[in-house]
Amino acid sequence: MKQILITGGAGFIGSHLCARLLEEGNEVICLDNYFTGSKENVIPLLKNPHFELIRHDVSIPFQAEVDEIYNLACPASPVYYQIDPIQTIKTSVLGAVNMLGLAKRVNAIGPRSCYDEGKRCAETLFMDYHRQNKVRIKIIRIFNTYGPNMSTNDGRVVSNFIIQALQNKDITIYGDGNQTRSFQYVDDLIEGMIRMMNTSDDFTGPVNIGNQGEFSMNELAKIVIRLTNSSSKIVYRPLPGDDPKQRKPDITLAKEKLDGWEPTVCLEEGLKKTILYFKSL
Ligand code: UDP
Repeated sequence: MKQILITGGAGFIGSHLCARLLEEGNEVICLDNYFTGSKENVIPLLKNPHFELIRHDVSIPFQAEVDEIYNLACPASPVYYQIDPIQTIKTSVLGAVNMLGLAKRVNAIGPRSCYDEGKRCAETLFMDYHRQNKVRIKIIRIFNTYGPNMSTNDGRVVSNFIIQALQNKDITIYGDGNQTRSFQYVDDLIEGMIRMMNTSDDFTGPVNIGNQGEFSMNELAKIVIRLTNSSSKIVYRPLPGDDPKQRKPDITLAKEKLDGWEPTVCLEEGLKKTILYFKSL
């Protein structure tokens, strides 16, 4: 049984990871300041005596004796991470410094720039702590991920479209809808994360974890409308600044290093499960 710290553990991805690691019999400490994460996501876990929930902002140092750390704290939706860009940078950079400091102590072996640059700088810090202090680190790059426990007002395209479709409201496509994204169901991500944490100490990544199926927002809107049997119409809205035209992960390295890991849930299957979740709210 390991002691595992998960920052951002009450968030969308963190909550799934907490559940999985508890199931495997570990002690889990979940840190979250509830800026985008939500207590609701971890309420089912509170009855487990091996689970501890702590309100904490990772830009402030935190001390605990743990064997592994999953550092997930940071608003990941453009809508949220642009509300307070300086705090977004602090969360990525100070959060990384604080968690790396913790890892070292326990010796356990544009408008988007606040996010992109914060992440880029955090990766440099991770590598330098690894090289200079031999801290055991793992870096993954998570591509667009969706599934149950996404917050309803997250502003991400999958949650927006599903909620709009279920309410028969207009589906808002930003720009001409020809931009593409590759959407990964959360279970595939969690599997990749755990395999990554279990790789040998000399493997640090970075490794892309994502689904290679590439869809335009126009295609996504049509699929969501069909799966929800919705009478929603598509409307076009201005494209936000810096919005990437295309995104598709190259997962060759993940397949090679993570025991042949690859996504197993296709978009339709994952969307069906996510639709059921939003219907249940
Ligand atoms: N998007 C959209 N309608 C929405 C929300 C988002 O067309 O209601 C578009 C957005 O402009 C982007 C894509 O969907 O091109 C994915 O956006 P999201 O915020 O989910 O993630 P990211 O841009 O970080 O990949």
